[in-house]
Amino acid sequence: MKCPKCKSSLIKVEVEVEGARNKAISYQCEKCDYVDFEKETSNKLLLELKAKETPLKIKQKIVKLSQDRLGTYFNKNIIRSLDLKAGENIYVSVPDKKHIVITVEPNEK
Ligand SMILES: [Zn+2]
Repeated sequence: MKCPKCKSSLIKVEVEVEGARNKAISYQCEKCDYVDFEKETSNKLLLELKAKETPLKIKQKIVKLSQDRLGTYFNKNIIRSLDLKAGENIYVSVPDKKHIVITVEPNEK
């Protein structure tokens, strides 16, 4: 493969991105600053990074538990991915008006 800009040889370089297992293949010119990414491998890398951004997002209904208490359930996907068990402690914090952050207490084993 030749550089479309200066016709020099292109060197195949694997590009590593922090936090991703996949590597993207790029072709870099040895003379000028021309870089071309191989579509297939760079798409794979982008998909992997995207999947990490929102590992699990599930729509849930809030249910009424009693007069002034509301609750929600953890479905089995959440339970499995966090290894939750009944009786464990969690911390609930409200950083702003759109988020409820639940922190799982690390298991003491
Ligand atoms: Zn070039």
